[in-house]
Amino acid sequence: MYGEVKNPFGLRDGKHITVNDLREDERGLACNCVCPLCKDPFEARLGAVRIHHFAHSGEGCDEVASYLMGLYGFFRDYASSAIFRIPKLLVYYQVDKRSNVPVTRSNYTGQITYYPKRGLSQKRILLSKEVKLSFDSAEIMIGKSKRPEAVIATYHGRRIAFVISPPNTVCKDFAAKPYKDIATLEIVLSDKADLISRANTEQMYAIFSDVNNYRWLSSPLVFSAFAKINSEREEAYQDYQKELKQIRIQQEEENKKQEELRQKEQELRRQRFEERQKEAKEEKLRRQQEETQREAKDRELVESQIKIHGQLVIDSRKRRWIQCESCGKIATDSEFWTYQWNRGQCKECGEKRILLAKAESEQPRRAEKKN
Ligand SMILES: [Zn+2]
Ligand SMILES: [Zn+2]
Repeated sequence: MYGEVKNPFGLRDGKHITVNDLREDERGLACNCVCPLCKDPFEARLGAVRIHHFAHSGEGCDEVASYLMGLYGFFRDYASSAIFRIPKLLVYYQVDKRSNVPVTRSNYTGQITYYPKRGLSQKRILLSKEVKLSFDSAEIMIGKSKRPEAVIATYHGRRIAFVISPPNTVCKDFAAKPYKDIATLEIVLSDKADLISRANTEQMYAIFSDVNNYRWLSSPLVFSAFAKINSEREEAYQDYQKELKQIRIQQEEENKKQEELRQKEQELRRQRFEERQKEAKEEKLRRQQEETQREAKDRELVESQIKIHGQLVIDSRKRRWIQCESCGKIATDSEFWTYQWNRGQCKECGEKRILLAKAESEQPRRAEKKN
């Protein structure tokens, strides 16, 4: 799978060394090394072209597992011998003012990250300062796949786990996880393939002593931060509720104002409508009065003129006026039965005459039947 893994780590006299520790004359089996995993003899390949590395002299074992075992073994040797610097433990967290859910042991991972991985809000709590110590012991933990998973170091009975992210030429897309429920530090070596392949023991120790290569993955200390985080969250939540309430009140006031304005406008429209109605009524009345006056004037004029026999009487509206020969009524031609020039018979007199004529024509017939 990873055929090109060049293992720089070997085991000599129970101690891990790198291929770069060897002298020129320690090439091949003269290196006196064995595989850190299967303990079969290693040959040192100190060629001029390819990078120096160890290779099984026989069939050998899983190259990746062998490499990882060397790397973890190297770290175990370092951790149990050197003064160790444990980086400070900071947590970054974010407070969700919209949430009423407290941070607990089961839900905190989404809201808290450990220094130095950032991304959440810049609120932070220092849980422990950098500590220098000598571990009492360090032990490699082998996983189900027979590969090393962590080194557990102890100090006065307290345990801390180290998980190594190996160079990405050895394991691609390796995702470090906290080791069980033990405080876990990741040793980030994923981009250090070249450095490691050329390092001797001293340089490997320098890599392991650089706190910049460490990253906290988890720590039970984080639980001690919950009280502070939760009280901040509670405060933020209450403030946010107040804020929301204020917004609601403002909104209600605004709505009330709008409603008042709307009613005022409606009232104004109603008043204007009534005014217009009144004006229209007055205008109508005024026109009617004018009309009546004009009519009276016309009539006055017509009555004085109609006495003159044979004169055609036309008023200001071009209406023809006629006087009834039977009853003497003076009216416009539309009210006349028959007329000629300015004389005629009005409708009433015309109807009377028809009724009379009818009565006259029926009388002789009744007389005839009697006979
Ligand atoms: Zn091996
Ligand atoms: Zn008449």
